[in-house]
Amino acid sequence: RVKVNGKNDYMLHSGDMDHIAIEKLTIQHEMHSALRNQEFVLHYQPQYDLASGQIVGMEALVRWQHPERGLVSPAEFIPAAEESGLILPLGEWVIEEACRQNKAWQDQGLLSIPVSVNLSLRQFSQQNLTGKISEILRQTGLDPRYLELEITESMTMDVERASQYLQELIDLGVNISIDDFGTGYSSFHYLKNLPIARLKIDRSFVRDIEQDPSDAAIVAAIISMAHNLQMQVIAEGVETKDQVHFLRSHRCDEMQGYFGSPPLSSAGAQGLLSEKLNGPALPNYH
Ligand code: C2E
Ligand code: MG
Ligand code: MG
Ligand code: MG
Repeated sequence: RVKVNGKNDYMLHSGDMDHIAIEKLTIQHEMHSALRNQEFVLHYQPQYDLASGQIVGMEALVRWQHPERGLVSPAEFIPAAEESGLILPLGEWVIEEACRQNKAWQDQGLLSIPVSVNLSLRQFSQQNLTGKISEILRQTGLDPRYLELEITESMTMDVERASQYLQELIDLGVNISIDDFGTGYSSFHYLKNLPIARLKIDRSFVRDIEQDPSDAAIVAAIISMAHNLQMQVIAEGVETKDQVHFLRSHRCDEMQGYFGSPPLSSAGAQGLLSEKLNGPALPNYH
């Protein structure tokens, strides 16, 4: 019999549990102490303007620096954090750390560019998210226009509520983007009614953009729709020069992906920012 996590009081018989359930409980238990021991770190992936080649933003991506397992990817612990509720303190730490780091870079005279932070459904629906973010912005001294919050289509199912939450966030001065666009439940209704600054085209549409005519058509349509709705559009998971050419010729605004740079440690990102203070940073630009 194991009992993990004082708050949720899981009481389970080990005989009843399959391997996956045990693993999940172990992760949930370990994550509590990991948060206390500051084992989570943020990596930053640059985003590039496709016309100028300049770095125009960074996405903060959380990793777990596990004492035995090394650097653990978010896919392995975000779902468990969502389920246990630990995503709330973890997510708050992510926002705080991203804002603190961005302000520190600006104070050092590095390129002033926004940082994007991923929100989970549970975080988005929590009580007083706006109050928490407002407090973080005040404490870190970051100008709100340098913070972008990434949500997914599934979080906007209830358009009425979502627009109310989003409007509160926008009133703070932060920007909203839709992550993994095209993979979730999409309704033109929400695009029409929500104040969204930017669409991020999911990697799955970008991958075969040169071979698959359907993907090419979908990406071209997303770009033109976004522009007609006065939204910016960024392609995710861009890995090749040919993808860059396609996106550029279809007037996509920005790109993010291994072709530009993989996610970097904060030291790596800082190095890149100080090198590329001015001028194009995208490899093989023009
Ligand atoms: P995402 O927000 O869509 O982030 C992009 C993911 O694609 C990242 O994976 C990034 O490393 C990966 N990627 C970037 N460029 C390329 C490329 O050219 N090719 C390929 N194959 N992959 C690329 P990562 O860092 O493992 O994050 C996975 C997901 O975990 C994120 O997807 C996001 O949904 C979630 N996540 C990460 N950090 C946080 C966080 O702080 N809070 C929450 N709630 N979720 C997070
Ligand atoms: Mg994201
Ligand atoms: Mg994404
Ligand atoms: Mg994605």
